[in-house]
Amino acid sequence: MIELRPNCELCDKDLPPDATDARICSYECTFCAACVEEVLHDVCPNCGGGFQPRPIRPRTAWRDGTGLGTDPAGDRRRRSPYGRDEIDAFVETLRAVPPAER
Ligand SMILES: [Zn+2]
Ligand SMILES: [Zn+2]
Repeated sequence: MIELRPNCELCDKDLPPDATDARICSYECTFCAACVEEVLHDVCPNCGGGFQPRPIRPRTAWRDGTGLGTDPAGDRRRRSPYGRDEIDAFVETLRAVPPAER
C-alpha cells in the first residue's frame, strides 16, 4: 500500500490524497506534476527512475477495510536531500534516456 505522502519534495506544494497532479516514482518519491515536467523532466532526483500519476485512494469505504478512513494518507513531509544545482546536473545526465532504458 502506498503511503500517499503529503507534499512535493521539491517545491513543497501540498499534495492531498485526491490531488490529480501528484506524481510518484517506484520508491514513492513524490513530486507535483509541474516540477516533474518543468524541472525534473521525468527523472527522479533521488533514484533516477521515471514517474507515474499517483492513484487516488477513495474517501469512501466502498469495500470493507478500504478507503481513506481505514488507511489515511501519510503526514510526514519530505524534502529531497539534494540541492537544486546538483539535481539539475543529475537530471541533465539522464533526461534523454527513457525510463525503461535507465
Ligand atoms: Zn513541486
Ligand atoms: Zn525515486
